[in-house]
Amino acid sequence: MGAGYAGVSAAKRLARKLRRSDVTITLVNASDRFVERVRLHQLAAGQRWAAPSLRQQLRGASVELVVGSVTAIDTTGRTVRIDTVPRAIGYDTLVYAVGSRARLDDVPGAAEYAYAVADHAQATRLRHRVAEIASGGTVAVVGAGLTGLETASELAETYPELRVRLFTGADDVGSGLAPRARAHLRRALDRLGVSVHPNALVAAVRKDGLDTRDGTSFAADAVVWTTGFQVPELARAAGFATDDSGRILVDATLRSISHPEVYAVGDAAAAVSVGGAPSRMSCQAALPMGRGVADVVAARLTGREPGPVRIGYTFTNISLGRRDGVVQFTRPDDRPRRAVLTGRAAAVFKEAVVRSTVRSEPRGSTRPLG
Ligand SMILES: Cc1cc2nc3c(=O)[nH]c(=O)nc-3n(C[C@H](O)[C@H](O)[C@H](O)COP(=O)(O)OP(=O)(O)OC[C@H]3O[C@@H](n4cnc5c(N)ncnc54)[C@H](O)[C@@H]3O)c2cc1C
Repeated sequence: MGAGYAGVSAAKRLARKLRRSDVTITLVNASDRFVERVRLHQLAAGQRWAAPSLRQQLRGASVELVVGSVTAIDTTGRTVRIDTVPRAIGYDTLVYAVGSRARLDDVPGAAEYAYAVADHAQATRLRHRVAEIASGGTVAVVGAGLTGLETASELAETYPELRVRLFTGADDVGSGLAPRARAHLRRALDRLGVSVHPNALVAAVRKDGLDTRDGTSFAADAVVWTTGFQVPELARAAGFATDDSGRILVDATLRSISHPEVYAVGDAAAAVSVGGAPSRMSCQAALPMGRGVADVVAARLTGREPGPVRIGYTFTNISLGRRDGVVQFTRPDDRPRRAVLTGRAAAVFKEAVVRSTVRSEPRGSTRPLG
């Protein structure tokens, strides 16, 4: 369930590995489109690209697509309830891949007044709002993680007539990057006219701006909240062992530690990466988890015991508008290496990576494992 980066790659790979006559693979997703979440800041800034249909994505794979939202999982009866289907659907093996969404309950007023870019509807709402702000107006972006940096840059590049302010509770932007990457990031934000407010923890969002914890108020025509993602409550409500944020706790084969017939992947899974840290909510983790879970499930269904799934990182990839970026190459445990790519080369690199994620798994064909 869930057809994002992790769910689609898992379903397509499973279809390649198992015989159509032996298994039925059903993919349930809230929409019939594949939402490229890594491009949602671009959507918010008014850009267009063809969102692939899921049916197109799954062409050639023996995967049945059900469009609807899963509202509950019954782990005893092994069924899922879907809002568009009258009867619950049964499963023998369930892959939980429902991703994440914006975390809007951090401070008063955020859920009510702030905009976000974590899903298609939110990014579209921001797109409409920004387009109607008069020249000289202000957009405040809260959070200088990757999503905040990319959103602030994209908006500043597209709307040079607006003032873009970036608020962070940290004392600088780009923590975790090598010094050269960090320096480039600062220069790029400067060039784009983004004013960075360090050590500025936001305490409340208002209809017309925000207040920081030290009592300063800032006016803004739109406040964009990008301080992190949270996962749906489905797993916790169904009684799975989860971490504090509701991500399903899994073993090294991505199998739920409380329900062995269930696997979890992507943002909604609390897996362990190379080096022992919890998996980072990212495509970089979601894609190997999607591929890995397919290998694990196919192995178990054909009587073999699989090895652990490796979740390692290669780079952190930040777009700074369409013509600039920073690529920070990393060790598999996500620590930065000295190697850094900046400027147009980084922008081209990032675009190539983003394109490759949409066709991460080759078209399905029924090629049994043996
Ligand atoms: C603006 C932005 C930029 C980003 N940039 C990067 C980047 O550069 N690099 C990077 O690695 N990561 C980036 N990310 C993070 C990345 O997009 C996520 O980590 C990734 O999408 C997680 O993949 P996933 O398959 O777990 O979930 P998702 O891609 O979120 O997919 C989950 C799917 O499940 C569906 N779903 C949810 N609930 C239900 C339900 N109850 N029933 C049925 N279907 C359901 C959703 O509709 C969705 O289709 C970015 C995110 C954003 C918002």
